[in-house]
Amino acid sequence: MNQDNNSHHIVIVGGGTAGWLSAAFLSSQLKNRFQKNVNITLVEASDIATIGVGEATIPSLRQTLNACGIDEREFLKACDATFKHGIEFIQWRETPAKAPAESYFHPFGELVSVEGHNPAHQWSKLGKDQREDFADLFSVQPEIAKLGRAPKHSNDRAYDGALAYAYHLDAGKLVEFLKAKFRDVSVAQIIGKVVGASSSENGNFSSVQLDDGRSIEGDFFIDCTGFAARLINADQENEFIDKSSILFVNRAVTTRIPVEDKRDITGYTKCTAQTAGWIWDIALQTRRGIGHVFSTRHMNDEDAVQCLANYTGKPIEDLDVRFLDMKTGYHARQWRKNCVAVGLSSGFLEPLESTGIYLIEMANWALLDMLPRFFSGAQPQERYNEAMRLHYENIVDFLKLHYCLSNRDDSDFWTENRGPQTVPETLKQKLHQWQNSVPSVYDFDRRIQCFSENNYQFVLYGMGWSGHDCVQPLNNDIQQMLDALAVRRERLRQFVLRDTQANLDFY
Ligand code: FAD
Repeated sequence: MNQDNNSHHIVIVGGGTAGWLSAAFLSSQLKNRFQKNVNITLVEASDIATIGVGEATIPSLRQTLNACGIDEREFLKACDATFKHGIEFIQWRETPAKAPAESYFHPFGELVSVEGHNPAHQWSKLGKDQREDFADLFSVQPEIAKLGRAPKHSNDRAYDGALAYAYHLDAGKLVEFLKAKFRDVSVAQIIGKVVGASSSENGNFSSVQLDDGRSIEGDFFIDCTGFAARLINADQENEFIDKSSILFVNRAVTTRIPVEDKRDITGYTKCTAQTAGWIWDIALQTRRGIGHVFSTRHMNDEDAVQCLANYTGKPIEDLDVRFLDMKTGYHARQWRKNCVAVGLSSGFLEPLESTGIYLIEMANWALLDMLPRFFSGAQPQERYNEAMRLHYENIVDFLKLHYCLSNRDDSDFWTENRGPQTVPETLKQKLHQWQNSVPSVYDFDRRIQCFSENNYQFVLYGMGWSGHDCVQPLNNDIQQMLDALAVRRERLRQFVLRDTQANLDFY
């Protein structure tokens, strides 16, 4: 235990996004929760690089940055960040040979409703040839995004806007930004490589040992050591819930291209399906980050780089590429004794819906409530682990949805992805329920589920889902409802156009 009885001492091991975001958040928030002082020390190795990716986020980050007391404008500038309205999925339904340039949009905002009702019920039962594009009909965000507009006006309060939004950011710059703000102010930094840990009689960690012989004591330890999971799996006995039989991609090749004209910056992530995976394209203020995530069971490195080169339109020799391996799944026990894993040490799910940083945030918000209990003698580990399990499992379902509804037949990767044995039972049950009805607010627990009825509707209908067995003709009632929807949408569109500015006004 820490020698100083008037304070709690939290030791964070790892200086990537997970380490520094946790340090920033907990040092800002925990001080209001305890009678005692909370000292935070962050230990990071100088010779183990951070993963250096993690550029797309979801709207929760606004609340988390706000809770860290960070100014939004300052963050945008320091992190090369841009606004993100959502994701455009290109060629996920069909191959380019069958449907060239086919795409759909998954925006962040809520669906347009009519007098409190969701007209998707009627729309979903129309024949396919009678339906307009779901996202374009039920949201103004795809259009606003493609017009190059920000989701907000410069008069808006920080972290607030006319539309829901997130960011694209430079992961390396985010870490430097957080360090500059919190190091030596509320977080003590120690450079050193952790090579061991000591435990007290009750099994709790009491200190970590560094390679230069130093020992850092603490009451509570946060493992942010990335895929190494140096503390949470120190005994190699923490079960890993492997999800690779559901989500096949396990390797990435990445590159960067400078942004030459700021007018080309897209305010949404582009995800383009490939024969054995997909490519992300994320525009920051000064560069694009592009990466091909693929399944090594279905494609080799050489072909994967070629896909990346084809996408960028540049020869392979002109690309500065980097390969990364990924291990899909999560540790069953994310909080053990007095140690919790945050970030890649807790687990990893492919970045299709940008959930890596989100999971770091969720871990920290949960810790904010549960650490005070822990320090007063309670054992909240089981509750925490169950909450994180639900987060992971819900994301697995949502990610798999993008694959299992695809009609692509250009490779085993896509046909295997539709194999019933690769689809989780929980997702099968959801799809079964939505055979004749649309996803409902009652299907989800929004407190713990990142993706709920809106997100599922955008992806389901974007992917062309028509699970129902009764196709109805376009009659007067439905036409009236669609007309009312169009009026509501147009009103909202005018409001949003008036209340937002061009992206370029912010960068
Ligand atoms: P790391 O960045 O690996 O940091 C680990 C830290 O631990 C380093 O500072 C290292 O020095 C330190 N360390 C390790 N061992 C020791 C030791 N023994 N002693 C001391 N220090 C040690 N997330 C998103 O939200 N959006 C995305 O678009 C996204 N894209 C991704 C794409 C790919 C291909 C991958 C693999 C991940 C992606 N992620 C994304 C996930 C995201 O990158 C991570 O969640 C995030 O960067 C957090 O990483 P980390 O801090 O846990 O680990």
